[in-house]
Amino acid sequence: MEAMSDEQRVFLQMLMSKNIMDASGVKMAHRASCARFEANYDQTNLGQFVQEINRNIKPVGIEIKKGLSEFTGSSYYALVNTYDSDFLKNPHLATYTVNELELFKKIVQKIVNGDGEINTIQAVNLTDEIKTISKKRMTKKEAETLIESLSTAGWITIHKGKGIISLGTRGILELDQYISKTYPLSAINCNICKRLCIKGQMCSVCEDRAERPEDNTKLHLYCAVRLFKDQTNPKCPKCKHDWEHQIPRQA
Ligand SMILES: [Zn+2]
Ligand SMILES: [Zn+2]
Repeated sequence: MEAMSDEQRVFLQMLMSKNIMDASGVKMAHRASCARFEANYDQTNLGQFVQEINRNIKPVGIEIKKGLSEFTGSSYYALVNTYDSDFLKNPHLATYTVNELELFKKIVQKIVNGDGEINTIQAVNLTDEIKTISKKRMTKKEAETLIESLSTAGWITIHKGKGIISLGTRGILELDQYISKTYPLSAINCNICKRLCIKGQMCSVCEDRAERPEDNTKLHLYCAVRLFKDQTNPKCPKCKHDWEHQIPRQA
């Protein structure tokens, strides 16, 4: 295996310091790190550039992964842990207390079972449900602070105007294995892009007939927009019944 080049090392450091980067940030980091070492820069080469870094870092259980925001469909890159799907052992969550992780787990559970979102007030009130290991109960104020911090780190997204919380891009990237394992009935992959789909539109006809979770038809909003773009009378791609959801103009 070829060792990482200087520009790849710097690119990796940039990604680590940012936590998560959007597509234009990644492009800029790619260009900047190549320029710094006067290496050949070819923007179409980004995929291979990242792949080579991944080959070097995979043995230690991390990987650069590309993911899409479930709300906007725009792409992000993050450094994620690949070796352990156990939520509580994720090193990116090591700074949180046991109580905080319990609350985060509850929030994830409600998001997964609540079609991709939870009301912010409900999320804060979940403090009443968590069992505390220490006798000290988590206050609502502490829960609010935790939610803000999880949002800053990209685990969740707070939609302030709507008063709801959804999974953030890091959450989708790093928790997909955990979610699929823990909630196999709710964890349905998108029919179009085949990625885990928490927030999406589901066909009720397929759902009634489904014997296994994979018999369902669920689409990310942005995948639905793409699929139904030129259809005046959208049909479910599997059962061909009318698609009963309002297609957003753009995801
Ligand atoms: Zn999709
Ligand atoms: Zn269907």
